[in-house]
Amino acid sequence: MAAAEPDSPLYLGLDFSTQQLKAVAIDGDLGPVHQDSVQFDSELPEFRTHGGVHIHPDGLTVTSPVLMWVKALDLLLDRMKAAGFGFSRVRALSGSGQDSFSVQDSPVWMDSSSGLQCDALQEAAGGAMRLADITGSRAYERFTGNQISKVRQTRPDQFQDTERISLVSSFGASLFLGRYAAIDYSDGSGMNLLDIRDRMWSQICLDATATNLERLLGEPCPSTAVLGPVSSFLQHRYGFSGSCSIVAFTGDNPASLAGMCLHQGDIAVSLGTSDTLFLSLSEPRPSLEGHVFCNPVEPDGFMALLCFKNGSLTRERVRDRCCSGSWDVFSQALDGTPLGNHGNIGFYFDTMEITPPAVGLHRFDANDRQVSSWSPELEVRALVEGQFLSRRLHAERLGYSIGSGTRVLATGGASANRQILQVLSDVFNAPVYTIDLSDSACLGSAYRALHGLVADSGVSFLDLLRNAPEPQQVCRPHRSAPQVYDPMLRRFAELEQKVLEKSRF
Ligand code: ADP
Repeated sequence: MAAAEPDSPLYLGLDFSTQQLKAVAIDGDLGPVHQDSVQFDSELPEFRTHGGVHIHPDGLTVTSPVLMWVKALDLLLDRMKAAGFGFSRVRALSGSGQDSFSVQDSPVWMDSSSGLQCDALQEAAGGAMRLADITGSRAYERFTGNQISKVRQTRPDQFQDTERISLVSSFGASLFLGRYAAIDYSDGSGMNLLDIRDRMWSQICLDATATNLERLLGEPCPSTAVLGPVSSFLQHRYGFSGSCSIVAFTGDNPASLAGMCLHQGDIAVSLGTSDTLFLSLSEPRPSLEGHVFCNPVEPDGFMALLCFKNGSLTRERVRDRCCSGSWDVFSQALDGTPLGNHGNIGFYFDTMEITPPAVGLHRFDANDRQVSSWSPELEVRALVEGQFLSRRLHAERLGYSIGSGTRVLATGGASANRQILQVLSDVFNAPVYTIDLSDSACLGSAYRALHGLVADSGVSFLDLLRNAPEPQQVCRPHRSAPQVYDPMLRRFAELEQKVLEKSRF
């Protein structure tokens, strides 16, 4: 870590994630000068969580004790104090939270127990597509609006007594502020309640969810807003300065986008257990798949998020079946087969996919005829090309377009594999860079704290962060890539339609 001047300004970022609370402090040169974390399961065993949550007997309800987050923050700040952290040097702080909201035992993002409420909200809004047009997403069970409906219907007394509804992010900000903090536009976009274009609560959605909800939610605020100074309680307890500003907290995905310093036109591809795509957008086209949020760092911009369930686990299955369990053999298969795989196209949905909702293995030859098997080499390339064609197709449907400046930022376990990244680069016809995302939400919060101090004077986030560490370029697209993959993408879209029809039976 960089050695800072003894009293140079610091910017603090926090991340309330599912399993832990993390903090990172950076100095004005953007270098991290302090990092710490509290693991919920092992360091706060009295809450008896597993992976930070309680899974209820119905198997659908998943909650976290709110008090655990408060205690974790106490523990973290106490530990930083004991380590001699310079709280008085912190000029601004911000943070992020997983997308969910807080009652005493708060449903978290894994919760899927509000299906009925989702149906009702979509009906009130005039259908799933209309709801997506307004709020950026069709109804999702974990989204706060639907969770609020469920509490109102199943625990009316508790709902009656509710004074205020917070997200984990705005709750975190409230702990620092010493009073209720506003929900920011970006995390607010993950509630099925905010009109993402007007950046106000949608009256249709509020009315469909609960009466007087606007009062319980408070007015939403820009993600760059300074909410006020750190509470006098925390000033006395830890030595924060009275002029330390709290910048609105946001969701963990928006904070990660900030941490990656994603430029307009860039696309981040996380190749983990499932594959996730993040992108910055100026003209979003919300769809029944994926999510569009208000952008956390660009005042009029948007971001999109897409999740694909059949990612690394499917690649591992094909590796085991076709390559004797070796990534080296898998990579050789990619090296030994041509771009476009002789026109063969495959769909590999071992489990029901999210994007698109299809299941099963489907192989098509160059004449779009269904075939039952291929050589191991063709199978490996069909899998990887099929996965990345699907990532590109669905990103484009949300409003993404590949431009001359497009960069693909790859992260997650499979980004260690150069041959996989080469296919990614060819299918997207863009250079691929690798980044380490492990702390991106926390780092993004520290960056947002710094930016929040100057955002009102019109300084752009990316200008301010231009000296942030640059990702490493690892692949460039092959010259023939667009001739191969542009037409192949059109065929892929038509074949996907067929696969979807089959999946309905
Ligand atoms: P998560 O954070 O979702 O748990 P990671 O981002 O750590 O997952 O990714 C783990 C996955 O990375 C493993 O399931 C494995 O399939 C994949 N992986 C690891 N090394 C390689 C490799 N050399 N080539 C391809 N995939 C790899």
